[in-house]
Amino acid sequence: MIGNQDRWQEDLFVACPLRDLIPDDHILKRVDKILDLSWLREEVKDCYCLDNGRPGIDPEAAVRLMLAGLFQGIIHDRRLMREAQVNLAIRWFAGYRLDEPLPHHSSLTRIRQRWGPERFKRVFQRTVAGCVDAGLVNGETVHVDATLIRADVSWASLAERHVAQVLKENESDNGPEDPKGGHGPGGGRSRSRKSRKYSTTDPDATLATGNKKVRMEPSFKQHTAVDDKAGVIVDVAATTGEASEGVGLVSQLDRVQENTGRKPKTVTGDAAYAHSGNYAELENEGVDAVIPPQSQQRKPKRIPARRFKYDGKHKLVRCPAGKLLRRSGWRPSRWIYRARLCDCRACPLRPRCVPPSAKVRTIGIAHGHEALLRARRRHQKGWDEAARDVYRRHRWRVEGVHGEAKKWHGLGRAIRRGLANVAIQVYLTAAVINLKRLAAWASPPQPLAAAMRRLTGSLRMVLHCLWHLTQPRKVPSQPQRPIGVRLGEKPHFVQLAA
Ligand code: SF4
Repeated sequence: MIGNQDRWQEDLFVACPLRDLIPDDHILKRVDKILDLSWLREEVKDCYCLDNGRPGIDPEAAVRLMLAGLFQGIIHDRRLMREAQVNLAIRWFAGYRLDEPLPHHSSLTRIRQRWGPERFKRVFQRTVAGCVDAGLVNGETVHVDATLIRADVSWASLAERHVAQVLKENESDNGPEDPKGGHGPGGGRSRSRKSRKYSTTDPDATLATGNKKVRMEPSFKQHTAVDDKAGVIVDVAATTGEASEGVGLVSQLDRVQENTGRKPKTVTGDAAYAHSGNYAELENEGVDAVIPPQSQQRKPKRIPARRFKYDGKHKLVRCPAGKLLRRSGWRPSRWIYRARLCDCRACPLRPRCVPPSAKVRTIGIAHGHEALLRARRRHQKGWDEAARDVYRRHRWRVEGVHGEAKKWHGLGRAIRRGLANVAIQVYLTAAVINLKRLAAWASPPQPLAAAMRRLTGSLRMVLHCLWHLTQPRKVPSQPQRPIGVRLGEKPHFVQLAA
C-alpha cells in the first residue's frame, strides 16, 4: 500500500529527549560518552570578570561547538552556526535545546582571542591523557613529522622585504654586531641579504614548500608526534612555514614525555630530522633514532667534507693530503676548522679542494658530529629488521594522521590569520583526531554489523570483477580525432592509422 505523509503537520512539543533522536553510531553521540570538559570552567576563569558584565557563553558549550564543527569538516564559524541551527546532533552535543537561540558566530572568535592558544593546548593535552588512561598510548615508539598548512592569504598580498635595509636599520638601533661581521657562540644564522617575499596580510606566514618541484607558498607548519600503538597524537605544535623541523626535535620529545608521562625508547623521522645534534642528544638520552641520514651529493664539485677525518679526542681534522686543520672559530652551531695557507698553497689537490673565492679549505664540524658518523655507518650497513619495520610504520602512521587532518578536518588551509589562530586550529584538530580514537575504543563497531559490511564490500568487489570479465573487449576499429570543429560545422575527421 502506498504510504501517505502529512508534510504540514507541525508538533508543538517533542515527546522524547533530543538524545533519542540521534543515532547511537553518530560520531558526536559516541564522542559525548568519553568527552569530559567539566574542568574547563575553572581553567578559563581568569579570562572573565567575576562580578560584572554580560554573562558570556558557557566555555564548555563553546568548545563543544568548535569540536562538533571540526568533526564534520565545518571549519568556518558562520557555516558552523548556520548548520547548528538545523543540525540536531550539533545542538544536542553543545547542550542547546531545540528552541534555544545559538550564540552569534563572532562570539566564537572573541572566545579564541580571549583564551589564547594555551587554553586550547590544554584541551588537546586532556585528550592525550584520556588516551593514555584508556591504554591507547604505549609511549615506546613515537613517529615525528611535519606538514605545511597553506596560510589564508592571497598571492596578491605578497610583497618584497628588503632584508639588508631592515638589518641596517636594526644595526643603527642596537650597535654593530661584530666588527668582523661574524657571530659569537649561540648566535643566529647569518641572514641572507637577498630580498625575500612576505605576506602583508599575515606576516607570520612564510614562503615554504615541501617539494623542490612545487613552488613555495605562504605557509605555516605543524609538527606532529604520533604514538605507534593506535595512532594517537601525543604532541603537536605550530610554527611559521620556513621553520626547520629538525631543530625542535629534542624539545618535542620532552613535550611528549610531559604529555604521556612516558619516555620514548624509539623515535622515527625522515631525513629532515637528520641533524648531528639530534643524533647526539638522542644517543645521550638512550633513545634509538631511526632517522635516515641525508643523502650525499653524488658528484660534488669539491672534495666533500666526508673525505676529511675528524679526530674528536684531539679536536683536529685531517685532510685527504694528510695535513691537519685546526679550530679557527665558531659559527652558529658548528666549529670551523681551517687548513694552513702554506699547506694548501703547495698542495696538488688544491684545484679540487679549495673554492676559487677562498685561500684555504675550511670544514665545519657541528655539535654531535661523531653521532652523525655512527648513524651514517649504521644506515650504510643496513638497518636491522626491527628498525626497517618501525620505519615502514612511520609513513602510514604519521603521514596518515596528516592526511586525515587535511582531508576530513580542514587542516589543508589555515582558517584564520596569525600564528596564534593557526596554533588553536592545530590543537583542536589534533584533539578531534584523538577523540575519534578514544570513541572507537569506547564503543567499537558491532561485530555483526562490521562483518556484514566487510562481506558486502567483498561481494560487491567480486561482482564488479565478474561483470568486467564478462564484458566483450572493445577494440577501436579506426582511431579518429576531430579537428577544427566550429559551431555549425560538420566535424571533420583525420585518420590516425591506416
Ligand atoms: S688543499 Fe689544503 S685542505 Fe685540501 S687536501 Fe690540500 S692541503 Fe689538504
